[in-house]
Amino acid sequence: MPEGKIIKALSGFYYVLDGEEVIQCRGRGVFRKRKITPLVGDSVVYQAEKPTDGYVIEIKDRKNELVRPPIANIDQAILVFSAVEPDFSTTLLDRFLVAIEDNEIEPIIIISKIDLVVEAKKASLDQYMRDYQEIGYTVIKTSSITSDGIEALLPHLAGKTSVFAGQSGVGKSSLLNTINPELSLETNDISSHLGRGKHTTRHVELIHVGSGLVADTPGFSSLEFMDIEVERLAYCFPEIYQAGEKCKYRGCLHDKEPKCAVKEGVAQGEIPSYRHKHYLQILEEIKDRKPRY
Ligand code: GDP
Ligand code: ZN
Repeated sequence: MPEGKIIKALSGFYYVLDGEEVIQCRGRGVFRKRKITPLVGDSVVYQAEKPTDGYVIEIKDRKNELVRPPIANIDQAILVFSAVEPDFSTTLLDRFLVAIEDNEIEPIIIISKIDLVVEAKKASLDQYMRDYQEIGYTVIKTSSITSDGIEALLPHLAGKTSVFAGQSGVGKSSLLNTINPELSLETNDISSHLGRGKHTTRHVELIHVGSGLVADTPGFSSLEFMDIEVERLAYCFPEIYQAGEKCKYRGCLHDKEPKCAVKEGVAQGEIPSYRHKHYLQILEEIKDRKPRY
């Protein structure tokens, strides 16, 4: 039985990509009985009725699943942060990273619009870049004007399903258009300030970008961490998690506890102090949350 990947779901049809072909499939009633709805990104088994038409008959187990946009089996999140306009913010970057790490998705950090960086800001930006690289993240500087960094990004997209994330206006659409000019995605210039486009909900679709698939709708727009357990937060800061293995107390939250290896690491300059600060800020948010029941 042939297998493929759902790249679009619309009006009761699932568009299944198998090699180069897209087969327009209907779902079989069996999904409704099992209360499982096929999602974009699902790996499925289908039955072809005609070369272009068929039925989805089985959904393979998902490795992950996002609610917004509704999409399954994401390999990585490409996190776009502009160097300027808006200014690079590690506070916001760390919040996005927590959301991504919590979903067990691999992040790639892009610092965009580097053509706009003035000489005086270059050193501090490079220091941030090194900090995140030392944690183990891939960081790529890009410009959609000069095409800097595009070559470096392409191999990361190849053969993968990616979701782009990041604030509005950081250059996500411009980046995708630079990679694939024929996409002609609408960018966030004057026209979108007139109130059309971006706010209307629409279906999500996986599009070919480079030699990979990318969701045409950005993800991780909600950065409220209502569901993260206090003990799990450190797990979303890899270097804090790693240092935390050596804390004196089991279950150390790296806050007020004595003999905390994380605080020691910060004092020694091994862990950037701003990372620990952001960890503590989010920890407070999680502790303060109102019980939901
Ligand atoms: P999105 O909301 O993240 O998709 O951002 P857009 O791609 O719509 O870009 C927002 C604005 O930033 C637009 O006016 C773009 O022309 C501009 N922009 C995007 N990328 C770059 C870049 O690399 N360099 C410069 N100078 N401007 C950029
Ligand atoms: Zn500790």
